[in-house]
Amino acid sequence: MENTFYPELGMTEKELMKKLPFTKATNGATGETLDFTWYGRIPKGWRIAFGLDMLKEMAAEYKNFTRHDRKNWRVTGVLEKYGELRIYTGLTTPNMDAILEKYTALSHKRCVDCGRPCKQRGDGWIYTMCDDCYEAMVEREGHGANLSTPF
Ligand SMILES: [Zn+2]
Repeated sequence: MENTFYPELGMTEKELMKKLPFTKATNGATGETLDFTWYGRIPKGWRIAFGLDMLKEMAAEYKNFTRHDRKNWRVTGVLEKYGELRIYTGLTTPNMDAILEKYTALSHKRCVDCGRPCKQRGDGWIYTMCDDCYEAMVEREGHGANLSTPF
């Protein structure tokens, strides 16, 4: 397994999982703890923009968890959906949900590629990207929200 370094945290994936064990991913179907962190599945721009703040808030709240919550609260999925960050958990707690919702809302305003402030665009498919990253994507892939696909 490659041990990714996260510059915004100043630590590697293995160091992160050791420091904050709740960042280990879990298979939602089997409950099995996996050998990688769900944090790394967050798109890079959002990690740069708010990864550190989000983990700090989550760690502070995790300390308030009951033993039951610690045993059962797990992150079972991370997705970019409709241009926003979605973090799925096996068990919800009101305070942790509030933190995750806050960062989902923030993800609407930060570029998914580079983390700079941006506005969402798109029609059908939502792109949360700054102008530069959006234009680079259109150039790279030859399509985008403002271009029609010819048949
Ligand atoms: Zn960008």
